[in-house]
Order: sequence, then C-alpha cells, then structure tokens
Amino acid sequence: MKKLKVDAMSATYEILIERDILSECDKFIAPVVRGKKAMIITDTNVAPLYLDKVETALKNGGFEVYSHIFKAGEQSKHLLTVADIYDCLSQNEFTRKDFIVALGGGVCGDISGFAASTYMRGIDFVQIPTTLLSQVDSSVGGKTGVDTKYGKNLVGAFYQPKLVLIDPNTLNTLTDHYFADGMGEVIKYGCIRNAELFDMLENVDVKENIEDIILECLKIKRDVVNEDERESGIRMILNFGHTAGHSIEKLSDFKLSHGECVAKGMMLITLASEKLGLTEGGTTVKLIRLCRKCGLNSDIDYSIKDIAENAKNDKKGSGNSLNIVLISKIGESFIHTIDKNDFEKFLSF
Ligand code: MG
Repeated sequence: MKKLKVDAMSATYEILIERDILSECDKFIAPVVRGKKAMIITDTNVAPLYLDKVETALKNGGFEVYSHIFKAGEQSKHLLTVADIYDCLSQNEFTRKDFIVALGGGVCGDISGFAASTYMRGIDFVQIPTTLLSQVDSSVGGKTGVDTKYGKNLVGAFYQPKLVLIDPNTLNTLTDHYFADGMGEVIKYGCIRNAELFDMLENVDVKENIEDIILECLKIKRDVVNEDERESGIRMILNFGHTAGHSIEKLSDFKLSHGECVAKGMMLITLASEKLGLTEGGTTVKLIRLCRKCGLNSDIDYSIKDIAENAKNDKKGSGNSLNIVLISKIGESFIHTIDKNDFEKFLSF
C-alpha cells in the first residue's frame, strides 16, 4: 500500500492508495471517524459499479449504512442537490458524530464535501475518488462547493476529509476519454515541478505504473499547497495550462472536458512562451509528444482572439493584470504577469 500524509492547516489526514481497497475500506475508515452511521453519496454512473462493494464492506465493519444517489454530471453540482443530501441526512437522523463517504468523481467530492462542511456546522467525511482526475486533483486542497447560475464554484468552503482512499482498480471502468482527461492534470504536475515524473510518463506504460504516478502527483500538490499556507502565492503554479484551458472549456460550452482543455492550454501557452524565449527550446515538442501518447490532442477550434477575450473576463483575475503560469523548462515553473489586454498578443507571438 502507498501512503501519503497531508498536513493541512486545519487538519491532518492520510491518503491510502491500493488496488481493491474498496472491499476493505471499513478497516481504514473505522479508526478515523467517531460515529457508527455512514451516508454514502454517489452518482448514477458510479452506484451500479461500486456502491455495493463499499456498502458491504462498511456493513461488515459494523457500520449502519445509508446511501444517496444523485444524477451524474456537472449539472448536479448545485445547491438543490446539496439540499437533497441534507434532507436525506435529517430523515435518517444523522448527528454531528456521523459521517459522509463521497464515492465518485470530482462533482461527487465537491458536493458531498460541501454538504459535510455545513450539515450541523460540519460532520466528518471520507473521500473515495473514482476517476483519475479526482484522484490526482481533488484529494488534496480541501476545496468543496457548488456552481450557481452565475458561474462555476461560486459557493463553497475549504473543508478537509478525515481520510482519502484511492482504489486504482476503479480506473478500469473509466472510458479511454476520461482516463486521458485525468492525464491532462498528471502531465501538468510533471511540467510544473517534476522532470522525473515527466520522463517516467514518456517511458513507461502509464496504466501499469499508475499507483506510483498518482502518488507523485499527490506529493507535488501537497507540497505546493503546504508552501502556499505560508502565503507565497506558489499555489498558482497548479494553474499551469488553466488560463487558456478554461477559456477553451467555456468556448466549447463544456463539451470538451477539463483535463483535455488543460492539455490544450499547456501546449498553447508553452508554444507562445518558447517563441518568446521564456521557455527552453524544444519543450513544446516534448509536451505535444507526451500529450499525444496519453490520448490528448493539440487541436484548437477557437481563435486566439476568442480565447484571450474569455480569459480577460475571468472573474479570478485581479485588476488589469493577468498572472499566467509558464515553464522555463520541463519541471520548472514560474509566474509571468502581463496586462490583461496583452494576452492575445502574447498568445499570437
Ligand atoms: Mg484543474
């Protein structure tokens, strides 16, 4: 089993990575929770695959188990789904000692974590991410929340889980598309902090080595998030590929998935920064080659003008400047600040 300890400001917890850990999840959950009642929150895609396994393990471990299934998809990431969870918890008389298990991808973790952070002002929650993207991305950082009609993730809370369990076997039921989607973020970690990870991705069979790969990504995210608690602003490097990537995602009306847009964003921004001499020569070619190996293409169906325009309107920007993350070479990143109005020029250099 691979283990990683995460020291977040408000809590310390462990991430355990092991094939088939789902069927003995009770053993690891029991020592970290107080109550005996578990509410498993999952969606209509994941429930038929893994709910039974988790439910059986928890029952065998002596827990009283309930479950709540919501409709799979980003459109469920809103307050009404969270209200349904509150009702389900109340109807089954959940108290402050009891806990939630989030079984599923990013949306499931976000809404379950938010429900856990607010029901009775906070109950315990355990995360079991089942997609590659959620395993490498949302297990660390404590971000929970929902979308509103005005935008994504506008309401939420920082809330740490008691435990994260990662079962790489759940990746066997992901489509090739969603495996590649997660690889977009995996490649990002190599680019921003770890040239050895990048080399490894180039040279090994990714699926066969996925435990090590997930662990390396989580270490990078943990370290970067920890450094940021000292307010160095370094957390921003996790957004490599995301400025242009988010624009592309929005322009596609979210028909393109997050990880594939991040990959396009990384390739686009690195092509520009390499031309400007800010990135070591040959980096873009290496990046494109690895993305292709992982099933991610560099096709972009939108104009640079539209991409830049969308990034400019991003609410996360501060004032007139835009912080973009660049890599000086594979494994080393830095923040480059430009005027918002110069982003189009930057990209089309
Ligand atoms: Mg992301």
